[in-house]
Amino acid sequence: MDTNCRQQEEFRNAMAKVATYIDEKKGQFVDELQTLCSYPSISRDGEGMDSFLPVLEDFLTRYDCRHQVIPVRGTYPYVFAETRDCSQHEDVRLLNYLHYDVVPPGPLEEWNSPPFDPEIRDGCIYGRGVADDKGPLLARLQALEAVRAATGGLPVRVKFFIDSEEEVGSPHLRKVMRANRELLEADACVWENGFKDESGNPVVRLGTKGSLRVSLTCRGANADLHSGYASIYPNPAWRLIEALKTIRSGDKVLVDGFYDTVRQLTKDEAEALATTVDPGAQEKELEKLGLPEYERGLQGADVLKALVGEPTCNITGLTCGDPDDPTRPVIPHVARAFLEFRLVPDQDPTEIAAALQAHLADRGYDDIELDTLGKSWPSRTQVQSSFVQLVKSAARAAYGREPAIHPSSPGSGPQYVGEQVLQIPIVAIGVGHRHSRQHGPNENIRIADYLEGIKHFAAILLLMPHLHDQDAGRNA
Ligand SMILES: [Zn+2]
Repeated sequence: MDTNCRQQEEFRNAMAKVATYIDEKKGQFVDELQTLCSYPSISRDGEGMDSFLPVLEDFLTRYDCRHQVIPVRGTYPYVFAETRDCSQHEDVRLLNYLHYDVVPPGPLEEWNSPPFDPEIRDGCIYGRGVADDKGPLLARLQALEAVRAATGGLPVRVKFFIDSEEEVGSPHLRKVMRANRELLEADACVWENGFKDESGNPVVRLGTKGSLRVSLTCRGANADLHSGYASIYPNPAWRLIEALKTIRSGDKVLVDGFYDTVRQLTKDEAEALATTVDPGAQEKELEKLGLPEYERGLQGADVLKALVGEPTCNITGLTCGDPDDPTRPVIPHVARAFLEFRLVPDQDPTEIAAALQAHLADRGYDDIELDTLGKSWPSRTQVQSSFVQLVKSAARAAYGREPAIHPSSPGSGPQYVGEQVLQIPIVAIGVGHRHSRQHGPNENIRIADYLEGIKHFAAILLLMPHLHDQDAGRNA
């Protein structure tokens, strides 16, 4: 038997034991998740943030991780943790990025059970944070125990970097990561934010889109005027609309240079997407949304390609006049548009904002004020990376089916900070599903998905020692 075959057999045997252990521990694992989610930790208004910290520390200790609290001026402390034990490969280190803050519960009357008193109904756990992000956090700790119990120890070193302010955009993340770069050194990183798609495939995400949010303000007279005078006074709303029409036409963004740095999906990335297209699920989705078709009549694999691979320019808001009485007969004195660009590698939001400003000036709209309201950069780990192959193999072992590999999430997040500062492959996995209602009322995960999520992370740990072996991941 050659090394490769022996490794595969060892992995299969270990995985079988790990999976059995996790199934046997189902009661305890779910119970602990309910406990963890019964404490609010809302970064937006601070509710429960201070009292949640010792709860988190207690869980880290319980799962045999030494940890340190990282105080950060201007926000709640971040937490770093690391496993104490490692039986074989001290030199291989796997980092996890997670967060312990949650968003506010929103309107309580829309919850079918209290957001911070997690309840089990029909095989699902309902509660704020079960999917985002306390479920993923605890699943990874519990995977440590499963691997230890089933195989006698951890094969590699595991680190946890736990954010306190992800739900408010992680404004201090870069600073904290930079200051603790040595602590965070690793061979690869598992981010949060994967889920199961409509067809039940586990989705592994390799990146996020970047974003640029701006407001465009067009001013007329210094006060609203009688609309009878519309023949002699300009209306800034019309001028703004004309300017907006120069920015996008059909499906194309017309800002000069907008597409210059767009990295097209590679053949491998496009193929990875195409393997998991389910036209039936797409039809169902459209029906659920009350839409006759996707934008531009997109179909099949092109829907996913557009979703993850194309940059967009979206209008999120248009305002002018009196929102409470839009029929009031006036010429509004100000009109404002809120635009949001989602960007793909290697677009740079700062450059796009400058290009937009120049675009407007070149077309005679230099009176329109552009304010940048927020920006983030895109990130994308290469699909051919050996770590992606390893995570895929682990998914096959844990879920018994091929995972869907998405080169990017359609949304944005701070993953680019990790990519820029740490410069290691980053892959996102999770325990939720398409209708987990993250951020909404009745946030939930399916218990079966949760257990599979624990198994997936455990399988990653088991394969990690072979990260740099050629094809180790591919053949497992
Ligand atoms: Zn979130």
